[in-house]
Amino acid sequence: MRWMTERRAAGFDAMTDLPSGVRAALEERFTIGLPEVEARTPSEDGAEKFLFRLADGAKVEAVYIPAPRHRASGSSERVTVCVSSQAGCAVNCAFCVTGRLGAGRNLTAGEILGQYLVVAREKGFGPREANVVFMGMGEPLLNLAQVSRTLDLLEAEVSPRRTTVSTAGVVPGIRELARRDHRPNLAVSLTAAGNALRTKLMPINAQWPVEELFAALEEWPLEPGRRITFEVVLIAGVNDSPAEARALARLVKRVPSKVNLIPLNESAEWLPGLSRPSRESVDAFGSHLASSGVDVTVRWSKGLGAAAACGQLKGRETPGRLLRVPPPSVRS
Ligand code: SF4
Repeated sequence: MRWMTERRAAGFDAMTDLPSGVRAALEERFTIGLPEVEARTPSEDGAEKFLFRLADGAKVEAVYIPAPRHRASGSSERVTVCVSSQAGCAVNCAFCVTGRLGAGRNLTAGEILGQYLVVAREKGFGPREANVVFMGMGEPLLNLAQVSRTLDLLEAEVSPRRTTVSTAGVVPGIRELARRDHRPNLAVSLTAAGNALRTKLMPINAQWPVEELFAALEEWPLEPGRRITFEVVLIAGVNDSPAEARALARLVKRVPSKVNLIPLNESAEWLPGLSRPSRESVDAFGSHLASSGVDVTVRWSKGLGAAAACGQLKGRETPGRLLRVPPPSVRS
């Protein structure tokens, strides 16, 4: 593994400290390869989206995000790599383009780690220089065996403190991840506080409703100084009211946490009928949370983000050949 991850060996032949018989046996049974880059989409803010074609033709995305330019003094600068864990996603969140693509397949640990390794090679950064977030295509905790293996392999390059797994709320997966010795950070896509609205926006809530989710989160072992991140995609007229902000504040304060507000990345083609709230409305929502004592950040995506939310690049590249899953009805 050291030959592949640290020394970036391209073949078993290069592993000269292994007996030749072992190298031959490895050659017979395994291949070393990285996902093929099919397209790269840079944006003016320095981020870059990589579209990968895997050995069976499945396509997944990873995103490179440069280190923030202005940091408090003393903090170290790191780039962020966002990787996919599945090709497609069966969870079908109303605000997500990947959800429209339907269930794909689980990626192997090699395919997940490979995304990081290619981005590191292409962007020229080394071990300990990146954060890795599992926030690309797919629900990581529905592919936990391979995600867990990836976390083990990543430890040679990226500290678990610099790794974040984001889930739509797969409660058994959260409980299993909590049992790891070296836990990553946990992010939860929450988006609404009440079961009725959350189930409309994220159908997975019918299986693991808010109470069950928070029972698992309250048991998540947090080291001092660490917090759970909640992601809230804000949709105009759906979940951006002051009453929703107050309900959300009450809920998230049950655990040490911070909230990222993500104004919806609109897509007339993929997310018809859903629009991004105005800046005033997003600011007001954030102020309601902050005045209730919640640590809140608004993540306006510009450039790349505005043109290519989760899954949009894949959608654009392969028109007409994809399964189109109808979105859940949000406004009924
Ligand atoms: S937001 Fe995540 S879990 Fe929901 S459909 Fe998209 S990829 Fe799947």
